[in-house]
Amino acid sequence: MQTVLFHETIFGPIHSRRLGTSLGVNLTPDDGKICSFDCLYCEAGFNAQGPGTTGFSPRQEVARLLEDRLSAMRERGDRLDVITFSGNGEPTLHPDFAGVVDDVISLRDRYYPDAKVSVLTNSTRLGDNAVAAALAKVDNNILKLDSAIDSTVRLLDRPNAPGFTVEKVIGQLRQFAGTGIIQTMMLRGQWDGCHIDNTREEEVEALIKAYREIAPREIMLYSIDRPTPARTLEKIQAEELRTIGARIQVETGIPVQVN
Ligand code: SF4
Repeated sequence: MQTVLFHETIFGPIHSRRLGTSLGVNLTPDDGKICSFDCLYCEAGFNAQGPGTTGFSPRQEVARLLEDRLSAMRERGDRLDVITFSGNGEPTLHPDFAGVVDDVISLRDRYYPDAKVSVLTNSTRLGDNAVAAALAKVDNNILKLDSAIDSTVRLLDRPNAPGFTVEKVIGQLRQFAGTGIIQTMMLRGQWDGCHIDNTREEEVEALIKAYREIAPREIMLYSIDRPTPARTLEKIQAEELRTIGARIQVETGIPVQVN
């Protein structure tokens, strides 16, 4: 069954507590999901629903649709704080991600020069030079790191690549020292006969060590907000999340946002 969230290439604007008024760019298909992870909590559903039929949006089409939307918004005098790459999967898997980023930045400069460009990425493509160079051009890189323990990432985020290791990703994330935002989903639950809980002491300690190594400009902790494809997951309540966030901020010296 198809459970993707976004049925358009350009969606919104939506109001995000953290980012403000955000216009979304979905490079992945309108009717299926393509991702290098298959997270148990993915709002777009499991990869098993299939990649759909529409494929990645061609670069020229993304630029045309975005320009139409930005020009209409500017004509109406609408507010825009940020253009955000998000969608039904991982945006950096787009075959011309770097070209799309260039177009989006140039359209932003033309229509809303004060708006930011943000990318939500699962951090699996940072080893690709073109992807890394494109990410270096945007204002906000929001980079996923849900656990610094391999077995937890395998259970929770379920990377497609058999060679995936947390150590490699942490090494790649260091290029965003002082600039990137590391985003961590905190949760607990059951899956496949295993207990998952990245709020455990061992997990938080490993994350703190990783955050120190990466030294991002900010850490963002969040919890489940919508129904998840795995029904056996538990939302971490705001107070507990705030307590974990406060500890991480004290022990790393990096600002922590809790959503
Ligand atoms: S990385 Fe993002 S899009 Fe991919 S499965 Fe995880 S939550 Fe979904």
